Amino acid sequence: MKECIFCKIISKEVPSKGVYEDELVYAFHDINPVAPVHILIVPKKHIFGVQSLEPEDEPIVGHIFYVARRLGEELGLIKGEDLKGGYRLVFNVGEDAGQSVFHLHLHLIGGRKMAWPPG
Ligand code: 5GP
Ligand code: ZN
Repeated sequence: MKECIFCKIISKEVPSKGVYEDELVYAFHDINPVAPVHILIVPKKHIFGVQSLEPEDEPIVGHIFYVARRLGEELGLIKGEDLKGGYRLVFNVGEDAGQSVFHLHLHLIGGRKMAWPPG
């Protein structure tokens, strides 16, 4: 997608601070973090959002969650054998939920206590 900011980040046309990359996904620091740790995990395939997922996208979504699990551990948000600590995973789906970039992305947010319910 020519005009998609995340496609440009994936292709390195726009710089970002990457933390993980493989053939399916790229993970990088959010430019406007809402917590000490705020990573975006995005599929390299341009997908509009959860609202447009197709059956063929199911493995990508599962992989995004597995990458989140590993990053949560590597970034020290989950600690020890008893898996203490925590972080929040968020998909904003559509404008009413606050989605502003229409390329699927999972927010991994942590490093501080989270409130519930979200705003
Ligand atoms: P959304 O609001 O769609 O759920 O999340 C989009 C996120 O992308 C926001 O948290 C925003 O700060 C982040 N973002 C938007 N443009 C850029 C950019 O050019 N670089 C990076 N690293 N993050 C961006
Ligand atoms: Zn895109």
